[in-house]
Amino acid sequence: MKKGPSLSPESRVQHPRTVETAADNPPLNIPIFQNVKWRTESVAEGSRIMRGERDGFFYSRVANPTVRQLERLLAELQGREECLAVASGVNAIAQALIGLTRSEDHIICFAESYGPTRQIIRQMLARFGVSHTMLSIDDLSGLERELAARPTRLVMLESPTNPINKIADLGAITAVAHRHGALCVLDNTAAGVHQHGEYEIDLFIHSLTKFATGAGEVMGGAVIGNASVLRELRPDFGLFGAQIDPQTAFVMLNGFKTYFARYRAQSAAAMHLAGFLARHPSCARVRYPGLGEDAQGKLARAQMRDFGCVITFDHRDGAEAGRRFAEHLQLFARAASFGSTESLVMPPQWLQPRELTDEERHWAGIGPGTIRLSIGLESVEELETDLAQALEASLQAK
Ligand SMILES: *Cc1c(COP(=O)(O)O)cnc(C)c1O
Repeated sequence: MKKGPSLSPESRVQHPRTVETAADNPPLNIPIFQNVKWRTESVAEGSRIMRGERDGFFYSRVANPTVRQLERLLAELQGREECLAVASGVNAIAQALIGLTRSEDHIICFAESYGPTRQIIRQMLARFGVSHTMLSIDDLSGLERELAARPTRLVMLESPTNPINKIADLGAITAVAHRHGALCVLDNTAAGVHQHGEYEIDLFIHSLTKFATGAGEVMGGAVIGNASVLRELRPDFGLFGAQIDPQTAFVMLNGFKTYFARYRAQSAAAMHLAGFLARHPSCARVRYPGLGEDAQGKLARAQMRDFGCVITFDHRDGAEAGRRFAEHLQLFARAASFGSTESLVMPPQWLQPRELTDEERHWAGIGPGTIRLSIGLESVEELETDLAQALEASLQAK
């Protein structure tokens, strides 16, 4: 169709003259391609794009340039070939697990993992005839035994685990899983997109909601792996239709420009405050990766360069003291999530897993006084003062 000067105003508003930017004069940030459809000149070329025979875009549910740029960045940071960016971390987990499993498959998961991951496996996948075995992530001999007992499609793990910061032995787990022909899927949210790439992980999953911007204004998730694994997942992802939207991808691309500065500053502050809590008489079982000389501390230092912003500990006086502590904090918001530039606290009442057996609860490691902190970018001295006064105040009943 012609779009020359002869168009009527009515037609012109539908087909405005486009503004081209020259290749030697590009914008510094990628534009937001807030756009669903792409034109093609010939039908044949459109068909080739649809079949994936040439680069190009056709429909934004399948691919969008702003989203593609975020996906490329994340794949490179994680050290893999491809990435799919989706609407939330939970969506990334659900789609990856549904995409990789078939009826009668068996998978292995761990009691220490993120609650909704357990629910996806136990409630959703079970409906489609996928069975599972739940173990403690410390139980390497149990893992070996279960893998030897029957064919297993995949092992779904996390490190550090949310909420109690357990470190999984990635070298040992990937070796035993692969020896038995199982894939390793790692929810790497807490470690971030720049860590663990050197391990033989088949698929990384991230909640981008946590660290993409630090401002807590956007949700998203990512699935990252090599082309062979992503090829299996891509058709399903197109049909689930939960691709991240271009506006959010744009906000995240800008957020990632400060990712390393934020992640490392928050990690340094968290290490300092974890040391403070570990010396405090009201705090037991302070868990921060890289803190301490036990096997977990050594494993964290061997596997990670930066240890993240999450600290978990038990208030010695239990649930009510934990609640008082959380309510006396002034700089920490009582709120879900972690990774934001504001510090956050999850009281024991919000962390209790509901659907676990007593044995699984023991493995999950969440006690009556367990508290999760996320350390932000406030002054470290003021955060320490705040923790000290709230611990003091938590000892007096209110
Ligand atoms: C938060 C979180 C998720 C879920 O992410 P959403 O973006 O909130 O859906 C998944 N896994 C882990 C480990 C998380 O911490």
